[in-house]
Amino acid sequence: MKYWGWLLLKLTLATAVVAGFWTVVSWLLPPAPSGLLANWPRFGSDLSYTFAVAFSAILGFLLGWLAAVDQVYRCRTCVRRLRMPRTAGNYSRIMLGGAPYTEYICTYGHGKLYVPEVHLSSSRARSWVGYGSLWENLMQAEHGPGPAPD
Ligand SMILES: [Zn+2]
Repeated sequence: MKYWGWLLLKLTLATAVVAGFWTVVSWLLPPAPSGLLANWPRFGSDLSYTFAVAFSAILGFLLGWLAAVDQVYRCRTCVRRLRMPRTAGNYSRIMLGGAPYTEYICTYGHGKLYVPEVHLSSSRARSWVGYGSLWENLMQAEHGPGPAPD
């Protein structure tokens, strides 16, 4: 829930930035034509208006893309940036199952992110492996898998 809330917050900020950009640009744009061209669509016929719309769209897509890329490398539990990348595998052993990959971990122990370096149809996709809490892991190690005795 916190993970998706953080993404929603970033997208809301990106929308606010684009809206602010459009507000400033609309102050700087010349007024819409009047007279015979009063109802004529400005997009495509007014160069400065068309550029302003294009830059607004590019800015919106750029900010959305940055928010999405940043979100991939965040912990699914605490939303902190994943740290300590560990690379393993070898490019010369791709067909033998040793495809190179990088793992990022949450420094608070919530899980790790597996990121393959080579994208093949047979390779694993990027995936998140969450860890249980410390007490759950200790109880499971002490009592073995299955329900804990009361
Ligand atoms: Zn975490």
